[in-house]
Amino acid sequence: MGKTWVMREYSVLKDPFNIGFVLMALGLFGIAVHFQIFEQFYIFSRAHEDWEVDEVLTGFAAASAMLPVFLVRRNWRLSLANITIASAKQQADHVALHDPLTGLHNRRYLQLLTDKATQRGWADPQNCAMTVLLIDLDRFKPINDLRGHDAGDALLREVAKRLSALCSAHHHVIRLGGDEFAILSMLLIDIEANSRLARQIQTALGRPFVLDGWAATISCSIGIASWSEGMSASDLLRNADQAMYRAKSLGRGTYVHFDDELGAAVRDQASLEADFRLAVEAGQITPYFQPIHDIGTGALSGFEVLSRWQHPTRGFVPPDRFIPLAEDLGLIGRLSDMVLSEACAALASWDTALGLSFNLSPSQFGDLTLPARIFAILQNHGLDGSRLEIEITERAVVADFDKAHAIIAELCALGIRISMDDFGTGTSSLATLARLPFSKIKIDRSFIADIQIMPMNAKIVSGVLALAASLSLEVTAEGIETAAELDFLKLHNCTLGQGYLFSRPVPAAEIVALLAAAGGSKAVRRSG
Ligand code: C2E
Ligand code: CA
Ligand code: CA
Repeated sequence: MGKTWVMREYSVLKDPFNIGFVLMALGLFGIAVHFQIFEQFYIFSRAHEDWEVDEVLTGFAAASAMLPVFLVRRNWRLSLANITIASAKQQADHVALHDPLTGLHNRRYLQLLTDKATQRGWADPQNCAMTVLLIDLDRFKPINDLRGHDAGDALLREVAKRLSALCSAHHHVIRLGGDEFAILSMLLIDIEANSRLARQIQTALGRPFVLDGWAATISCSIGIASWSEGMSASDLLRNADQAMYRAKSLGRGTYVHFDDELGAAVRDQASLEADFRLAVEAGQITPYFQPIHDIGTGALSGFEVLSRWQHPTRGFVPPDRFIPLAEDLGLIGRLSDMVLSEACAALASWDTALGLSFNLSPSQFGDLTLPARIFAILQNHGLDGSRLEIEITERAVVADFDKAHAIIAELCALGIRISMDDFGTGTSSLATLARLPFSKIKIDRSFIADIQIMPMNAKIVSGVLALAASLSLEVTAEGIETAAELDFLKLHNCTLGQGYLFSRPVPAAEIVALLAAAGGSKAVRRSG
């Protein structure tokens, strides 16, 4: 019963104008009518003093006059309740469509606006002008990490203020979440005007933020996409997102307009991703081996494993393209295990005591199961840890040094050696070298190239060789292409080298022939 009452009350409250106000009007009208009747009865009873019924009727009239009073009171309360509910609803709508930190509109509001505008656009494309500028702050995370969340919040509020100051009534400023903002422009689509707005945004956000006694400088990457006929709201936002990612990949602090070319590139990337998943599934990515030589004697010293993907229609896809893809798709661990396993199978089948150098990606150093998996692969092929060397770049230890350190220590305990790849290209190669148990460094190919004609490269290489000698580290020089480069390295006592001068990376079958040529009968393929 209580429930029925609540339902009835609710339905009345939901409809203030139709029922509440009609009832109140009736109540007021009733009072007026009753007072009229009361007056009539009073006059009538005075005229007929002998008539006893007058008191009864007067009492009845007075009592019935209470009914409209009750109705007015009740409706007054209903109206107040309606006002409270309307303001609560308004508040709820505000919360649902606004970002509490900056007071700007939120992602849901953007979705509502773009949905509405695209629907209008389907009916009348001429009148649907809409451009989204998606703004992502660069280098916001370090501010949050170093200065704390309160500082990060203060900066975001200031960003909101600066963006709002740039906009007219035809723009909506929105915080999409985190450090992502958007400006929705409802002005006629004009590439130059949108570029100008993007530049103004970058100038405004590029000014230092001085807040509570600390200062910070940030930049932002902006993706711009305009609506065109047939596009849904989510198409528009996705295009802006893709343009923003392209801007970020171009080095931050830039803006990119979404256009057909970018759309085609994005579609191509999506199809490459799909093909890559299939290739991993089908084991189409295989190890190639690049020989490493002893520079002093010229003898073979080992092989670097380099992954190769021969795509049926795209042809050769370079690892610089598919390794980052594998990292993004979370497939790097699986790919790495697959390639290492195949490489170890090949090594175990060759009649040689030489070892392999294997590249690991930085993201793999967040996975504490890595040493156990590598150990299992070695064991499967009857190989000792000393036959394997792991090549890592300093980026591998940047994200979580302690974790990387623990993984490297476990690998070393298995007898696996660690070498620092691309030495000299990072920002803290020496600091990383000092903190981890490396046994070798690989001088990046960019320093070896043109060593004869670039005195600076020659000085860097000889300096690195001297440093390595004083730390008792082996050195491999990468990318040796000419005899002159080799002579220079020999002169400066570089121990090991690899490069096209010796051999390009080749499939396992070619290594069998190479071993045969290098070691005679020792290097033939094992029959088992
Ligand atoms: P990296 O580890 O620095 O490998 C050396 C790169 O230099 C290889 O490129 C190799 O083919 C190339 N190279 C060797 N000698 C010469 C030369 O004389 N001249 C020139 N111009 N290039 C030479 P590649 O095979 O395209 O590999 C590129 C990068 O991809 C590698 O750089 C490595 O970081 C990564 N990579 C390759 N395979 C794997 C893998 O299985 N796992 C991981 N995580 N990364 C891999
Ligand atoms: Ca390498
Ligand atoms: Ca390298």
